[in-house]
Amino acid sequence: MPVPAAATMPGDRFLPHPEEDWYDRDIGTTGGGLEHVFWATPAQRRSYVRYILAGHGGERSWELRELVDWEPESLAPWADAVTTFDSVAIDHLSDVEWPDYWLAAYHASDPAVDALAARIADGPPGRTSPPGDKRVHLLAGVDTDHALARLADLARARPELREIAAGHGIWVPPEGPGVRRYVRPLRLILSEHPEPEPGLRVDPPAGDVLADPRGTGCARPLSIVLDVDLSLLGLAPAGTRRHPFIGSLCSQCEADEEMATFRSWTTVDGKLVLDDERDERCPGNDDSGHAWTNPVRLGLGRGNRYQPYDPDVPRQPKPVGWLGGLPEFRQHPFWPECCDKPMVYVGQANQGVLGGFSQYLYGFACECGAGAQVGQHT
Ligand SMILES: [Zn+2]
Ligand SMILES: [Zn+2]
Repeated sequence: MPVPAAATMPGDRFLPHPEEDWYDRDIGTTGGGLEHVFWATPAQRRSYVRYILAGHGGERSWELRELVDWEPESLAPWADAVTTFDSVAIDHLSDVEWPDYWLAAYHASDPAVDALAARIADGPPGRTSPPGDKRVHLLAGVDTDHALARLADLARARPELREIAAGHGIWVPPEGPGVRRYVRPLRLILSEHPEPEPGLRVDPPAGDVLADPRGTGCARPLSIVLDVDLSLLGLAPAGTRRHPFIGSLCSQCEADEEMATFRSWTTVDGKLVLDDERDERCPGNDDSGHAWTNPVRLGLGRGNRYQPYDPDVPRQPKPVGWLGGLPEFRQHPFWPECCDKPMVYVGQANQGVLGGFSQYLYGFACECGAGAQVGQHT
């Protein structure tokens, strides 16, 4: 299918050109030749977001998620207009900003949310695809208390919408607004931090955390790649509950990859018991010489993607992990459930940076003491 010219991008007619001084109409219409939106000024970036939302000249973009996390004000001028997109404009946006298009109406106003919810309630869109009505995904991405109330009303009337909400970590209770099962803002877990956070640990003894530290299919003790005090997410009083990201350094089997497909556990007498029955197939090998790298002074910080370059500020190290925010899945999105609701998203560990197999471990916790991890790599 030929890509339509930039001037006729599907979202274009839904997005008015602001009269305000900050707006650069050339950037907002054609991108203005900006090569890297993160090197632009905040006003240029705000203008450029219009170009992305209208359809980005038919080219792939991966900017929306970072903008929501680190510069949400650049989305603000457009959020209400995005809620008015027809299915053609939404489909096009979802192509250029897959899988994060659903964040495009982040913090849209209450009247815009009401109008979008009314359109969803009126009937199905002209075209639906397996992920379901994309307007519902957009509503989930607004992430205001008002949007969560409207989403829950809709989902109680149409149970298939409940699944869309759960896939984005929103629990629809029997009554009342949808409940976030994630914690914002997102924070990066960085090494060599000027203010180390004692609630973050790398490679504590697995026996301190697990009732049986051996792998499910391997005799070699597992490793706690990274663990976090859940008080850092407001999920428990300080020092009472931690979440481990679990890996293995066995050089003889693929325990590490296995740990990461999906593992869940319950808490028994203060230690974690893996749900899977042990089925030992590997004697375990620990003479590979592999060890976890132990980054010093782990602390929490914000992303610097949109901060202007300053030669006096050292380059931000690669994050050891991400605490809170929303999971950035590399493969199929998968949000585990427990106690009839989505589990709370803890964050993700960047296992490759810590010396293990290069994959991301996504951590989830439930109030009942259960936990789970999902691993993905590109
Ligand atoms: Zn093994
Ligand atoms: Zn539970």
